[in-house]
Amino acid sequence: MTRRRRAVPPGSAGARRAAPLPAVILGSGIWHLLRGRRGLRLSRGEIGETPFGPSRPIFSTVLPGGRRVLLMTRHGEAGYDVGAWSVNYRANLWALKDRGADLVLSTSACGGIDPRLSVGTFVVPHDLLDKTTRRAKTFFEGAGLGIVRHGQPFCPALRAALAEGLAAVGVRHRLGGVYVCTDGPRLETPAEICSYAREGATIVGMTVAPEFALSRELELCYATLSWVVNLAEGVVPRPYRPDLLFEGMATEEELAEGDRAAARLPEVLAAALDRLSSDRACDCRRAMEHYKQRGDIGEDFRTWVKRT
Ligand SMILES: [Zn+2]
Repeated sequence: MTRRRRAVPPGSAGARRAAPLPAVILGSGIWHLLRGRRGLRLSRGEIGETPFGPSRPIFSTVLPGGRRVLLMTRHGEAGYDVGAWSVNYRANLWALKDRGADLVLSTSACGGIDPRLSVGTFVVPHDLLDKTTRRAKTFFEGAGLGIVRHGQPFCPALRAALAEGLAAVGVRHRLGGVYVCTDGPRLETPAEICSYAREGATIVGMTVAPEFALSRELELCYATLSWVVNLAEGVVPRPYRPDLLFEGMATEEELAEGDRAAARLPEVLAAALDRLSSDRACDCRRAMEHYKQRGDIGEDFRTWVKRT
């Protein structure tokens, strides 16, 4: 894998000519998908220069079955180099949209709060609790834009496609769930997990907010495919293990199970995209419509914010 650190200016001729492509954002726990002969083959990465700074490199890759997608990692291509609390979510989404993406499927490793969830289970959440406090949550700082509904925080058409894709691939999964997003970097206390459970959360992670809401502001369809890599603190008694990832919250067997699930991600994403119609019935791509009709903004999203 090579990476070309060439900036693509926003709104460049090349970007405008790019054909619409689905975009995939890979979270943590997926690095083995990017290595070796059987790993995803990535093009040279291109960093998008945006009004919010540089994005993560954008790659082109081909999923199983031959579908080409734009691909970005939140945290790095070889390891956890950028923490969830330091990801430039605005730059990443802006750059993907600028490259022609009209939908984003993300992956997100998560902890299971619902004790009935076992490690390795895929979850397609339908709702979210945003507990983050230190992240830029809108593209429209200092402007009066961005008051948009989140009755369905995740695109229902993408969720339906993920459901069909999971069933087609035949992996263990649950449809629906509430993802609670925390700031990190520390993991949660037992009391916090208890509190989140009482609020309705079924899984916990650090990355989906504000990604979901920023996508809506750019009229991108967005959904996340989570998979359980450990059970959350206090859900089951687990001794402290300083030698293991998550310090013993997942056993060695469970860590291996999580890796096995992650290895199926490309198949599931491909199967989901194969089942997604280009004229999908959802309102994500009209999220800013009332602002356009009022004359507050034009059709080109690149004009929606002032360049800094
Ligand atoms: Zn949608």
